[in-house]
Amino acid sequence: GGSDASDGKRVLLAAPRGYCAGVDRAVVTVEKALDLYGPPVYVRKQIVHNKHVVTTLEKRGAIFVDETEQVPEGATVIFSAHGVAPVVHDEAKALSLKTIDATCPLVTKVHREARRFAGDDFDILLIGHDGHEEVIGTAGEAPENIVLVESPDHVDTIEVRDPDRVVWLSQTTLSVDETMETVRRLRERFPKLQDPPSDDICYATQNRQLAVKQMAPDTDLMIVVGSRNSSNSVRLVEVALEHGARDGHLVDYADEIDESWLDGVTTVGVTSGASVPEVLVRDVLDFLAQRGYTDVASVTAAEESLLFALPTELRRDLKARG
Ligand code: SF4
Repeated sequence: GGSDASDGKRVLLAAPRGYCAGVDRAVVTVEKALDLYGPPVYVRKQIVHNKHVVTTLEKRGAIFVDETEQVPEGATVIFSAHGVAPVVHDEAKALSLKTIDATCPLVTKVHREARRFAGDDFDILLIGHDGHEEVIGTAGEAPENIVLVESPDHVDTIEVRDPDRVVWLSQTTLSVDETMETVRRLRERFPKLQDPPSDDICYATQNRQLAVKQMAPDTDLMIVVGSRNSSNSVRLVEVALEHGARDGHLVDYADEIDESWLDGVTTVGVTSGASVPEVLVRDVLDFLAQRGYTDVASVTAAEESLLFALPTELRRDLKARG
């Protein structure tokens, strides 16, 4: 009760937040494919890990399937932003599917690194989460050479063929700090460990974590908009709590915010994962404004301007139908 402006209630809004270049490209790919070919358009796995995005595209005629074999012969299928193993391309070919590959170019880059190091007969210590689609796809490039490393503690128990020929690669959406800790432990065990040619954790993951780190010490409650299966979104809650936020929650929608979370809270931090449309953040800001959190200040950790061209297959068809 008694909430008015004098309570000092405020919101710190992270920048950057929300859509990254790879997600934007993947979502636009499905939208344009629906316009161009007409529904239904099949999508293997969730195009991006966001409930709202998937539901919205479903309403427009996208059909999401878990396995390639669920797509009718000869139909069009889009591969999700997380990437696929080469065997999935083979499955699609066997079913005469028309494929559009919406794999984020920054994931494709990691696939290329995996192929190259496997070709040089390295064991690849792939830091990532077991069962995550991106990890399945990357590991599929070189199943014989990949050793999954799930956490710093996991380092002690992994086995390699030749400790002098090891390189680490990673999933694109991990915690930067935890990954560096894993790498430190790996290097202790394997002093000849090679680094990837460039960062595997992508710019979007890094920047969203950076903004959260800056806000967290001043934040009583961090609200991260994102879905449970979104790796980078889940990491943002963890990073917030590790860097001083007193409380933190992941929500898909504003109506999942529990009023009790706001008890005694002066400063609310708000951010969103790389797969989250801005409209969902607006809903959260409206929810907070209705409860007296009308003072909103941005915390900007980086500027982003990256854009990716649409998949070649789609661009070609768009041009042909001009
Ligand atoms: Fe690409 Fe990074 Fe976005 Fe994943 S989070 S789609 S790797 S830019």
